[in-house]
Formats: sequence, structure tokens, C-alpha cells
Amino acid sequence: MAVFINDTCINCGACIDECPVEAIVDEDDNPTDEDTYYVYGDKCVECVGHHDEPACATACPTEGCITWNAIGESPEHREDISDEQRSNKEPVVE
Ligand code: SF4
Ligand code: SF4
Repeated sequence: MAVFINDTCINCGACIDECPVEAIVDEDDNPTDEDTYYVYGDKCVECVGHHDEPACATACPTEGCITWNAIGESPEHREDISDEQRSNKEPVVE
């Protein structure tokens, strides 16, 4: 995984066009059947090489909605994010 959209998502759509690698899908295409937007962990690069911080989280108006998640299939991840931030699913934008 990479970054994670939690159930506070209000489906506003502000994040989806900000993603440089098209890792985000809307609620209709969420493979978990949650009624929220969804980040594909095998596509998300945490905006490494694109932006100083994850652009989806910068654009999201819902506080704490987009969080760090465990490193998994993501092709890139941010080295400066601690295991604790990831395991606690801490918000990308405080
Ligand atoms: S962190 Fe960047 S690459 Fe990952 S989903 Fe958000 S905008 Fe896309
Ligand atoms: S910007 Fe935030 S609240 Fe809006 S759809 Fe994306 S994750 Fe959900």
C-alpha cells in the first residue's frame, strides 16, 4: 500500500485529477465496495518525483481523510515516513 483513503471521504472528487499516476478511483470503481474513493497501492508512488508531498492529500478538504499506509506493492515510497506513521495510519496532512 501507499497512502490510504479512509471512511471520512465525502466523495468530493478533489483528489482524483491531482494524481500523477492515476492511482485513485471513485466510489463506483472502489474494489472494496466501500462508498468512498480508493487508492490502488500497487500504482501509488506517494508522489515521489512529482510533488513535495502527496498531491491527493494536499487537495483533500476533509481533515485526516488521506493517511499513510504500510509499504507494500507501491513502486515508490517516501523514506522519511516512519513505520509508526504508517502503522498508525497517521494523516498525510496534519
Ligand atoms: S500520493 Fe500521489 S501518487 Fe499516491 S494516490 Fe496520492 S496523488 Fe496519487
Ligand atoms: S479529496 Fe478527500 S474527500 Fe474528496 S474524494 Fe478525495 S479522498 Fe475523498
